[in-house]
Amino acid sequence: MVLQYTNQDIIFMIVIKFGGTSVSTAAGIQKIYKIISEAKDKKPVIVVSAVAGITDLLLSAARSSPGQAKKSLSDIKKFHIDFINRLALPAVTKKDVLRYLDTVILEIGKVVRIKGSEKAYTDKIVSFGEILSSYIIAKTLLEKGLPAEQVIATDIIVTDQSFGGAEFLVGETRKKVTKKIKPLLEKGIIPVITGFIGASVDGKVTTLGRGGSDYTAAILGFCLGASEIQIWKDVNGVYTTDPRLVATAKNIPVLSYREASEMAFFGAKVLHPRTIRPAVEAKIPVRVLNTFHPEKTGTLIREKPNIGKPVRIISFKRKTTLVNMYSTEMLFSKGFLARIFAIFAKNNISINLVAVSEVSVSVTLDNDSCLEAAVKELSRFNQVTVKKNMGIVSLIGEGIIASSHTIKKLFGVLDKKGIMIKMISLGATDINISIVIESDQVETAVRTLHKTFF
Ligand code: ADP
Ligand code: ASP
Ligand code: MG
Repeated sequence: MVLQYTNQDIIFMIVIKFGGTSVSTAAGIQKIYKIISEAKDKKPVIVVSAVAGITDLLLSAARSSPGQAKKSLSDIKKFHIDFINRLALPAVTKKDVLRYLDTVILEIGKVVRIKGSEKAYTDKIVSFGEILSSYIIAKTLLEKGLPAEQVIATDIIVTDQSFGGAEFLVGETRKKVTKKIKPLLEKGIIPVITGFIGASVDGKVTTLGRGGSDYTAAILGFCLGASEIQIWKDVNGVYTTDPRLVATAKNIPVLSYREASEMAFFGAKVLHPRTIRPAVEAKIPVRVLNTFHPEKTGTLIREKPNIGKPVRIISFKRKTTLVNMYSTEMLFSKGFLARIFAIFAKNNISINLVAVSEVSVSVTLDNDSCLEAAVKELSRFNQVTVKKNMGIVSLIGEGIIASSHTIKKLFGVLDKKGIMIKMISLGATDINISIVIESDQVETAVRTLHKTFF
């Protein structure tokens, strides 16, 4: 997809997105109220995720029998009632919000009973998480004196039909977003928009992939020409690696767009992988901030590359599939690689990392669900071996390729730990060195490399 940015008709505004953990407690909502109040003059457009845990419950409802789904729905309802009770809303507002909850739960029940075609059906079901949270938050902010109004993104974000990981259609989305959101901002209204969801041209509900609310914020920022996109989470910005795995991981004050997109693409769960692209096209700075510590400066992601340390961040994926293909036919032959990649494309398999020698090609795949058919075809002219249970560790930084020292260190420390590298790829973007290792060695490798490089 080509993202073409034209900054006509822009008004000064910012996008502020709050993730699942931020919107899940009364304390979080109080923080959100304060953050939005302070940003009120900047014409904020708010994007919200579902309450933490709800998307998972909705997914399990979608995947189970209608009978079992009932249990998930009752858990979802109970979860929200507890949450609403803790918001200390006046009786009338509380009644209104609980009535909305009832209506939505009934609606989900109806969809579950009809059970449509697999993927479209799942997207329809999971969309209700953000529909609920946006209503509750908009009503609570309104109650506290902010002129907030719920907007459901199926009315403004137009996507293709890739259910479960849809891509937005630039022209159509920009038209709808401008038409709906601009008048609200001009009237001083604060739109509270559902993250994660959109609709296809023919009106079917779609989702942008897990963690997709970050992407919603970027899409809106791009369409409206925001002066900043703020992503509020439960961490003080982006860290040198996942702080859940390495307690000593440090905050990174500034990252370049390239570093941030590479980090997200190679597994760092802190940002949805597609978030950075619209921001790059429109040159909008992205800030990652902590809802619970708004005084911390977080991470600024911007165009300008950073100089200094070659390795700035370590990303990892715990699970990937490695496919090795070996054929002496490859030597001197034309179009060999094209043939291999066409087979993967035909089977709808997207390739992540690639390493090529004269007689062999190795690739890694995130999703190997159609792999059997592809392997059958590939085996006609290749010796193919498939290794599941592999993982990827990526060292990322603008200066990385220029530093031969980094590669030497990488090999040295992993060798000492007895970790065998099965494949190495110096990413096409020249700011990433990725290695493929056994999945159960990923954590040790990340901890060891973090200690070495930071
Ligand atoms: P939200 O629900 O607000 O979108 P997420 O849970 O999706 O938040 O993302 C925040 C989480 O991402 C953090 O709690 C952290 O554990 C994880 N994470 C993974 N890698 C990183 C990293 N490099 N820096 C910061 N957080 C990271
Ligand atoms: N609620 C969705 C998820 O859990 C989207 C998001 O949180 O960004 O994946
Ligand atoms: Mg997220």
